[in-house]
Amino acid sequence: MRRPLVAGNWKMHGSRAENSALVSAILQGLSGDDGVEVAVCPPFVYLADVIRAVKDTPVAVGAQNVCAEPVGAFTGEVSSAMLRDIGCKYVIVGHSERRQIYREDDALVARKFLAVQQQKLTPILCVGETLEEREKTETEHVVARQLDAVLAVAGIGALAQAVVAYEPVWAIGTGKNATPEQAQAVHAFIRGRLARQDANIGGAIRILYGGSVKAANAGELFGMPDVDGGLVGGASLKGEEFMRICGAARS
Ligand code: PEP
Repeated sequence: MRRPLVAGNWKMHGSRAENSALVSAILQGLSGDDGVEVAVCPPFVYLADVIRAVKDTPVAVGAQNVCAEPVGAFTGEVSSAMLRDIGCKYVIVGHSERRQIYREDDALVARKFLAVQQQKLTPILCVGETLEEREKTETEHVVARQLDAVLAVAGIGALAQAVVAYEPVWAIGTGKNATPEQAQAVHAFIRGRLARQDANIGGAIRILYGGSVKAANAGELFGMPDVDGGLVGGASLKGEEFMRICGAARS
């Protein structure tokens, strides 16, 4: 049984006051059962505040990015050890905004994945194709390339302590989500590719869907057999909406 995970990616949004209200709404909306794991990923500067605010609650906290290097003269960067030190559990690596805007390539994403695991944190590895790639029927090729880059440096065993998020780039922040069937097809492809190397790991890994998830579409997306929850951007900034999405993932 895979326990669903819904993680909110706050991106570069929020303020101390807004975060405090959002965390309160999330804590109020928790159902008390553990049928779904809830996580939030605030900007770096607010991580420690949010970690304090959710202390002794089931809500986990993740970072949105990390430096691939362990320590040293890397002005402006944040290491995995620092994220662990303050109490993060998850780290998003390879988000399409990092890949596209900041030119992070597969090799760098793989190094970040390793750096996160070396600190015993759990990477949420984002993969997904652009609209152009989908239209050229290259979705599986692109997703396989992004996965294989990590497998090449980390090995299949590393995926036992990881989460994958399938996020079609054309669905992120556009209001146009993948259909449940489109998501399921790629999720099954990802699981199958991992299962080919290790059936247990392929069967157990959580594969989240991301891309314009909202309360109105979460149920049908999360109802697909290989969709184990979501990575949620815009809708994670509204407490009640986010908690309805979490409710839709409850197993
Ligand atoms: C994301 O940023 O990972 C994302 C899925 O964003 P949105 O839900 O806004 O499409």
